[in-house]
Amino acid sequence: MPAADWPPSKPFAMSTSHTDPALDPATRRIDAGSAWTTPGVPSRGGEPGGPDLEFRWTPGSDPRTPAEVARFFHSPAIEVLKERICEIGRRLWQREYTDGNGGNLTIRVGDNLALCTPTMMSKGFMTPADLCLVDLDGQQLAGVRRRTSEVLTHFGIMKRQPLAKACVHAHPPHATAFAIANVEIPRPLIPEAEVFLGKIGVARYHTPGTAAIADEVGEVGRTHQAVLMINHGVLCWGSHVEDAYWKVENIDAYCRMVWIATGLGGGFRHISAAQAQELLELRRQFGVPDLDAAEVRDDRSQPG
Ligand SMILES: [Zn+2]
Repeated sequence: MPAADWPPSKPFAMSTSHTDPALDPATRRIDAGSAWTTPGVPSRGGEPGGPDLEFRWTPGSDPRTPAEVARFFHSPAIEVLKERICEIGRRLWQREYTDGNGGNLTIRVGDNLALCTPTMMSKGFMTPADLCLVDLDGQQLAGVRRRTSEVLTHFGIMKRQPLAKACVHAHPPHATAFAIANVEIPRPLIPEAEVFLGKIGVARYHTPGTAAIADEVGEVGRTHQAVLMINHGVLCWGSHVEDAYWKVENIDAYCRMVWIATGLGGGFRHISAAQAQELLELRRQFGVPDLDAAEVRDDRSQPG
């Protein structure tokens, strides 16, 4: 592919206004021969709905030579995703879901490629130039900063679950409180959590950055979009990075509500099993992946 196919791009704004070039149908594809589409275009042939932010690639199209990798890493489609990662990083930090250099984000951008955040950097103050391109074994392919050591945990899920296009890991205080307390997260209690989180997966503790935690979270994350990492934090995945981030907000808000309700002292009013089944139908209508049709149930019947 000649270099002329990949002119230098000006940075894309995070805006979702109609002036955003990522939303202009004329820029839907980088070029007619490109295998990589620009995310952010309206989906489903112009039907009403939210913007489709999922990144798609043609299988077998990963760049191979150093020149192809460099062009890909600086292509307009990838620059859009870098901006989104930085924006979500700011939101994580502003909501106090990360502290110090904690937390990390990934977006899968090929059969064996992902964008990721760098190590030893606050997620609240990243710029696109700080991000890295790695393969799914964690080998760094592009970027001036060193990639986070926790990407292998994200890839533990991505390798097992192709619907996982983006992962967000953070230490939001309310959810992490449940990860360190010897208390189960009760459910079903509110529709939002049932529809958008479903059953929250629980991954046993292993040292961060090891193959053991990648396997543990990978197995749990294969069938759960929100994973509570015991003695650590949360890792959520989605079809795009904002989708994954929303689940971090959902789980922390839910745990906060449960914590406050616990303090009221009257116990919980649970949604019934029959009502929970109706929420399962809502999940399908919202397009939430049906990872385990039996997942919406009354957990009170489960042993602690
Ligand atoms: Zn962590």
